[in-house]
Order: sequence, then C-alpha cells, then structure tokens
Amino acid sequence: MKWFGTCTDIDEQKRVEEQLRRANQDLEQFAFSASHDLQEPLRSVQIYSELLVKRYASQLDGDGLKFIRFLSGGTTRMETLVRDLLTYTQVNGFDAPLEVFDANEALKTSLVNLAEAIAASGAEVISGPLPSLRVNCTHLQQLFQNLIGNAIKYRSPERPPAVHVGADQQDAYWVFSIADNGIGVDPQYKENIFGLFKRLHNSNEYSGTGIGLAICQRIVDRYQGRIWVESEPGRGSIFRFTLPV
Ligand code: ADP
Repeated sequence: MKWFGTCTDIDEQKRVEEQLRRANQDLEQFAFSASHDLQEPLRSVQIYSELLVKRYASQLDGDGLKFIRFLSGGTTRMETLVRDLLTYTQVNGFDAPLEVFDANEALKTSLVNLAEAIAASGAEVISGPLPSLRVNCTHLQQLFQNLIGNAIKYRSPERPPAVHVGADQQDAYWVFSIADNGIGVDPQYKENIFGLFKRLHNSNEYSGTGIGLAICQRIVDRYQGRIWVESEPGRGSIFRFTLPV
C-alpha cells in the first residue's frame, strides 16, 4: 500500500511538472510573439508622427507640436522596451552550436556598440587578460554590453567613469568581473535588481527598461552560472558572473 501511494505521488508530481513546463513554454511564446508583432505598428506611429511634423509643423500651434513630441518620445521608449523584451525571450530561443570563443572578441564588439556612450561620458574601459571559453558569442557580448553600459550610465556625477573588466578561473568556472566607480547599489536591493522590470530609478533620472540585468541573469542561468553584485553605495559596484570553463 505504501509503495502504491509513493508511485502515485511521483506520477502526480510528473504531471504537474509537465503542466508547468507547458505553461512556461506558452508564456514564453506569448511574450515573444507580442514583442515581435508590436514592432511594426510602433514603427508606423513613429514614421507618421515624423511626417506630421515635417509636413504640417507650420499649421500647428505650440501645443500641437508639444503633443507630437510626447507621442514620439513615448513611441521611442516603447520601441526600446519591446526590443529589450524580445532579446529577453530569445535568450533560450536559439541553439547555435557552442564553439570555443575568445572573450576579448566579445568585449571588442560590445565596446564598438557602446562607443557613443563611452565618448560622451569620457569613460575609461580597461581589461585584464580574458579567456576563450565554450559559449555562444552573442550571449557573452550581451553580458559585457549590458554590464559595461550600466557602469557608464550609473556613473557618479563627481568623476568620469572608470571600468575594469577581468576574469579569474575558480575550479570549473571562469569568474568575470565588471568593476565601476559609479553611484553603487544599496545592499538591500542587490538581489532585486536582477528581476524583470526592476529599477531603482525612474526614467527621468536615468533612461532604461529594467530588462538588462534580467537578460544577464537569464544568460548565466542557461550555462548553470551565477551573477551577483558587490557594492559600496557612492563608491562603485563590482558585477560578477560565472561561466563554465
Ligand atoms: P535599467 O538600466 O534599464 O534600469 P537594468 O536591469 O540594467 O535596467 O538594471 C536594473 C537597476 O539596477 C537599474 O535601474 C539601476 O538602479 C541598478 N544598476 C544596474 N547597474 C548598475 C551599476 N553599475 N551601478 C549602479 N546601479 C546599477
């Protein structure tokens, strides 16, 4: 009787797990389709508000022009949100074959993509020796780009950003670090910030969607790695993540 009971419990657990897996898959598919399909109508709103300004600016009064500017600003924010959400849903989406990839190349690409922010802020980004590892190159580049981008965005008003990128081997994992001298993270939020849409500032202070660190979390989860932050508010932060050797 006892044996029979245990077996039924396991069957029930398997059924619930399968239901949960399917619900997760549906949710993921929904988020992907919604963010993908929203891009086109958003582009139309953007294009037609630009056309409206171009052709009819002279017929509009101050309020009319102001409203169109709000429209355009809102659309731009929504486009960023939709693009980031799409990136988030795609982390587990593509199964490109994992090849050994030089982390220096991923860093180089992310710095090219951040060139504007680096130049505008006068940031200095220095890196120590980085390894080659078996990882999807897009994933590593997204990790560097989000973390270095944040290191520059959340800079201190008192000094230009100085960012150091490094990696150390610890047993079967590489521990990467991105250290900055920015505003820092209050210790009580150091786990919370990796959640989807979690932000410590509003968009008037710092632009953003609250998806960047959630993308990083998702990427390292995929490789059974970890990501965390050590920080002293007002002095800077060190974001660390692990990936298998
Ligand atoms: P976003 O930057 O779009 O708000 P993220 O998910 O990248 O979203 O970051 C979540 C929050 O974590 C940010 O709003 C910010 O408050 C905090 N944060 C992230 N990186 C840093 C950093 N390097 N220094 C200080 N705060 C940071």
